[in-house]
Amino acid sequence: MMLNYEDARALVFQNVKPLEKYTRPLTESQGLALSEDISAPHGMPSFDNSAVDGYAVQAADLAEASTGNPVLLKILGYISAGDSGEEQMCSGQCVQIATGAPLPPGANTVVMVEDIEVEGSHVRFTQSIPEKENVRYQGEDISEGDAIIPAGTVIGPAQIATLATFGYSQVPVHRVPKVSIVSTGSELVDVVGQPQAGQIRESNRFMLAGMVKQESCELLKISMVPDLPQVLKEEFEEALQADVTLISGGMSVGDKDFARPILKELGVEEIFWKIKFKPGKPLFFGRRGKTWIFGLPGNPASSYVLFEEFVRPVLRKMMGRRILEESMVKAILDVPITKTYKRQHFMRGVLHVVNGEFRVRPLTFQGSHSIGSMVRSNALIRVEADSQALPAGSKVSVRPLRNEIA
Ligand code: AMP
Ligand code: MG
Repeated sequence: MMLNYEDARALVFQNVKPLEKYTRPLTESQGLALSEDISAPHGMPSFDNSAVDGYAVQAADLAEASTGNPVLLKILGYISAGDSGEEQMCSGQCVQIATGAPLPPGANTVVMVEDIEVEGSHVRFTQSIPEKENVRYQGEDISEGDAIIPAGTVIGPAQIATLATFGYSQVPVHRVPKVSIVSTGSELVDVVGQPQAGQIRESNRFMLAGMVKQESCELLKISMVPDLPQVLKEEFEEALQADVTLISGGMSVGDKDFARPILKELGVEEIFWKIKFKPGKPLFFGRRGKTWIFGLPGNPASSYVLFEEFVRPVLRKMMGRRILEESMVKAILDVPITKTYKRQHFMRGVLHVVNGEFRVRPLTFQGSHSIGSMVRSNALIRVEADSQALPAGSKVSVRPLRNEIA
């Protein structure tokens, strides 16, 4: 029985587990997923401090201040950012204070420097001010013990800032999978080569490597091999040393499609082969020990789409990420979809926003070999198996792709 898309994905996610936890230096943590919840070890701000350059005062001293009734307060000193600011301030006094400097004990509000005039050893105030103006209070942003970043969050600049603030020079994360890629096919020549009759330049291994890099995973070995069983066997064995092995091509039922029998010979247990999916029916998923193996069809657009729907979320799950894929959005079909299949179809399409609404149209050319469709699309339109024709104006589920199109 050929699995459908949902069941195949469920089976994959059931099997694959997050990799070990360890710590990495903060500066090398971007793109990795946190393995623990981060709770604030202390509040932020960590002490009451001034939000402006100005003068710390007691609000009560200025209660009656106006242009007709200026109040003069004696300048006690200056607290700059980094000073401990421990000197007590009393009624009748003010303290010059810098942005970020601690509010001195006794003060309860800060007047901006723009609103005062200095007169020798005193400051002239001509306005009253409420308490707690221009003060950033301890814990008002993040309170102590706040669960500020949940485990599984991918670390980006905002998380790095937070981790740095709380003193995480070492960050608890999951190890990322090491990935090997083997492109198979006797027709393939390297990018620097000149294809002869019947040959093409190999592109899948670069594409797949690019997608792996988008997830900040590690590339162990990337290779290209002709359809020669002995060579394939050696290359596969080496590639199986990774956490995830991606095989491109040779997965179907052609006479030279050796990948599946060779994986079997090498001790790979087949979890499934072939799914009700378009493009990319002959998807293979298996395991050997701790290594997960995806056999992707050689057709570039098939392996592109299958990577999005199967491999990317698996990499993320292994990395310990909470969010395994970009959410699908609802979009309005610009044109009808008349042809549907017995298989789940992910159509390459163009997603755009018109008057704040998502609209989408499938590309007219959906060939699974189509490299052109990859650069021309920025979304996958999900069309169910055995779906009725979808008229223009229907709402469809769309997976946005990270791809800039003209
Ligand atoms: P296969 O899955 O090996 O039967 O290949 C299916 C189609 O994809 C054939 O037209 C191949 O020439 C093409 N193809 C296979 N591998 C690659 C590759 N690595 N780069 C580009 N095209 C490929
Ligand atoms: Mg082939």
